Amino acid sequence: FKPVHIIGAGLAGSEAAWQLANHNVPVVLHEMRPVKETEVHVSDHCAELVCSNSFRSDDHEANAVGVLHQEMREAGSLIIGCADVNAVPAGGALAVAREAFSEAVTEKLKAHPLISIDRGEISQLPDAEDGPCLIATGPLTSKALSEAILAATEEESLAFYDAIAPIIHFDSINMEKAWFQSRYDKKGPSGTGADYINCAMDEEQYKAFIAAMLSADKSEFKEFEKAAYFDGCLPIEVMAERGIETPRFGPMKPVGLTNPHNPDVDPYAVVQLRQDNKLGTLFNIVGFQTKMKYGAQAEVFRMIPGLEEAQFARLGGIHRNTFLNSPKLLDGTLRLKKHPHIRFAGQITGCEGYVESAAIGLLTGRFLAAEALGRQALPPPETTAFGALLAHITGGHLIDTNGGRRSFQPMNVNFGLFPPVEFSRRREDGSRMRGVEKQLSKKKALSKRALTDTKAWLANIDLSVASA
Ligand code: FAD
Repeated sequence: FKPVHIIGAGLAGSEAAWQLANHNVPVVLHEMRPVKETEVHVSDHCAELVCSNSFRSDDHEANAVGVLHQEMREAGSLIIGCADVNAVPAGGALAVAREAFSEAVTEKLKAHPLISIDRGEISQLPDAEDGPCLIATGPLTSKALSEAILAATEEESLAFYDAIAPIIHFDSINMEKAWFQSRYDKKGPSGTGADYINCAMDEEQYKAFIAAMLSADKSEFKEFEKAAYFDGCLPIEVMAERGIETPRFGPMKPVGLTNPHNPDVDPYAVVQLRQDNKLGTLFNIVGFQTKMKYGAQAEVFRMIPGLEEAQFARLGGIHRNTFLNSPKLLDGTLRLKKHPHIRFAGQITGCEGYVESAAIGLLTGRFLAAEALGRQALPPPETTAFGALLAHITGGHLIDTNGGRRSFQPMNVNFGLFPPVEFSRRREDGSRMRGVEKQLSKKKALSKRALTDTKAWLANIDLSVASA
């Protein structure tokens, strides 16, 4: 076989290289460190963890990222294999000894006879004659390569400051307090005039909420993140700093809405949530991009009436990121539609986090291996964590709102990306489950289905994999 060139030996590139080599396909893995550094990496190891040392929950019976861990184990993942071997005590989470983990990944890759590691920056996209290529250069892709990608995709912007609003699981919203209505009952694509979920506040609640936002812990920007954010995506707490009434004239304005739970009293302020995926399982808080710290966000946003028990699929944030408009540019197996010899993997495709990036690396490595072996690259079903994440990236979950295609935003894996499942709502004695117990029953059903379908998919693709 011609070797596959992988650019970037991070979480995704390392995993993809391993999958390819274990299917007997040779790989050249190009990594620019230490010849050229990024703003945050500190070593020359492959798969360096740039911030936390946690791969998050390892619960594969009721947690989406835990399910993804397990699916990766089933598929012979290098990253999860090395994480398991270098795990440190972290309750229900899979956390690793940072240095030892990256060293182990690097050693495994170096020792594989079909993998060679080539140090140095790649600044141009390889031509089709050079064979298949995988770009896995992550959120801090070097400037020269970013420009080459921009030129090849003819997109206007690739690296920018992400303004992310939190996303909440619909079934954790208390609809006995919140209600569906569009401002002035304006009819959107759904035609109902009830596209938004609204949460009303009285004056006292509003003032307490603003005070909590102003005093909450905020993340400081790193030096390289200190570009001015533009007014269109101003963090909600920065808006509040400009004046206590500012949010009430912005995203929290109470006009054009009537609270059916309390129709005689005009709300003082209203928080609106907009549907975030086709399934209607996720809603984002409109205009609530924030740089409050994660713990503070959960606490402050649960002060919103109706969101007291909110479960967050993603918390808000602002940071530099580099990612493609994947739903538009990539096909179902992550090939660049215009130049199909080039594939993408990792955070640059629009997933978020170590585990998700490695998982997409694993899938892409397998797609490339299947093609090299003359077989069809078969994507995993959407009922699996692999497939749910892939569908998010390739655009299966995007919806139209207000006549325009909603912009694509990176996301962690979460159960809101999975198609609905039948699950038991009754206890053994026949009584009905409620609240958290019902949620848990659903999560268990989603997890079980995902792992069963992953095993069937792996058996079906019929590629022999050496164990990690
Ligand atoms: P990376 O792991 O970044 O790997 C990309 C590799 O490509 C790097 O080694 C880089 O040196 C190399 N490269 C770049 N350009 C070139 C080039 N032109 N030629 C050759 N090599 C190149 N995720 C979490 O789960 N938890 C966290 O706490 C967390 N904190 C983060 C903090 C910061 C500041 C940032 C920027 C990201 C953070 N993330 C976190 C996200 C996480 O880093 C990514 O999800 C994950 O590392 C992405 O994996 P990747 O393989 O796509 O990219």
